[in-house]
Amino acid sequence: MYEPSLEDFFCVERCDLCGDCLSGCPEFGDDIVDASGTIERLIDGQYVREVLERCSSCMSCNIICPYECNPYGLILYRWHERSREKGLPLRASLVMPLEPGNAWHRVMEGLTGREKLLLDKWADLAREDIKGRALFAGCNLQIMPYLTESAIFEGFPIYGRPDLCCGEVYYRMGSFDKIDSVVTHLEQIYRELGINEVVAYCQACFNMLKNILPRYFDADFPFDVSYFGDLLAERILSGELQVAGKLKGLKVTVQDPCHSKLLGKEFQDRPRRVLEHLGCEVKEMAHTREMSLCCGLGHGAARFNPMDMARGIVRRLREARATGAEYLVVYCNSCDLLFSVGTQLTPFIIPVYHLNELVAKALGQELPRRNLNRARSMTKELFVKGAPKLLSRKRFWLERRYS
Ligand code: SF4
Ligand code: SF4
Repeated sequence: MYEPSLEDFFCVERCDLCGDCLSGCPEFGDDIVDASGTIERLIDGQYVREVLERCSSCMSCNIICPYECNPYGLILYRWHERSREKGLPLRASLVMPLEPGNAWHRVMEGLTGREKLLLDKWADLAREDIKGRALFAGCNLQIMPYLTESAIFEGFPIYGRPDLCCGEVYYRMGSFDKIDSVVTHLEQIYRELGINEVVAYCQACFNMLKNILPRYFDADFPFDVSYFGDLLAERILSGELQVAGKLKGLKVTVQDPCHSKLLGKEFQDRPRRVLEHLGCEVKEMAHTREMSLCCGLGHGAARFNPMDMARGIVRRLREARATGAEYLVVYCNSCDLLFSVGTQLTPFIIPVYHLNELVAKALGQELPRRNLNRARSMTKELFVKGAPKLLSRKRFWLERRYS
């Protein structure tokens, strides 16, 4: 029987109850009066509302903890227990990429004809060109396939199918029972695929496939994992792609995605080095790098409340705008999408660009700007077509599989 324990996710023995993880939390640390007592209550298994209903799953507390206890894992584990006991509100299924009628798949259905052809090609797992090394397009690239129509993808055959989900959203919500079945499914599929190096386009997929699933969910994948952003940065910084100084003088600020914090300082340095190589001036936000605020997606994990997500997006866009930068540069497609949704909700508008779009621009290849179109589609799926689920009081349980 798949039965994770708290100790799998959080090191109780090493924790000295200092409370630094909570008092230093960039989301609500200032409001925590007794951080030491609060973490003690969480460890004891109490339902600590001020944490469990406010955490944005930004992962910064893991970096703060001096003993590498993984306090974020403690929160995830308590969410896991909550979802087992009480189930999840139906509205959570809208953003879960493997649940029927989820918004990701609905947005894919509305893509342009050319983009749908790309998705059809990516879904053909019998192709010979993906044997060996291939680039994995997760759900957040499958809703923005236009981003791949650039020379920077040459030599990277792409594959991806809606069911090949890395499970990130489920992990972020503490829905561990579902991840167990995600792992089994991926192991089965990859055993037959012949891919021995998965190049993850998304840093969250990279961290899930390389670290989280093997470490916490016993995944045994028959492939190595690398990150497309690393490979691209190498090609740029070595001079193979001649883009030096091509965007000279452009002022940008950078959103560091949550998983980048767990992947190390170098992971955050590299996109900045690429931007500076392009000639951009990087202006940092008030919360940056390991202390970055989430783009808004993770704000939905605590209460599944879209208003929490909207507040998170607006707060972050406001910080980005305050830097005086001309562009907000992201290196995660989910951040791209969420901020693009946000530009429809707030006057704190700042154009959002994926780093790869700027690299393509520096190469003289302007990609179509469809982020706002995708954001409108997502907003419609969530708030208009998804309204019955948003307003429903029904709850559901994700599968609990036994093996
Ligand atoms: S994950 Fe982020 S928001 Fe949640 S407690 Fe840790 S630092 Fe705070
Ligand atoms: S998890 Fe780490 S930072 Fe948090 S109270 Fe324990 S030792 Fe301190």
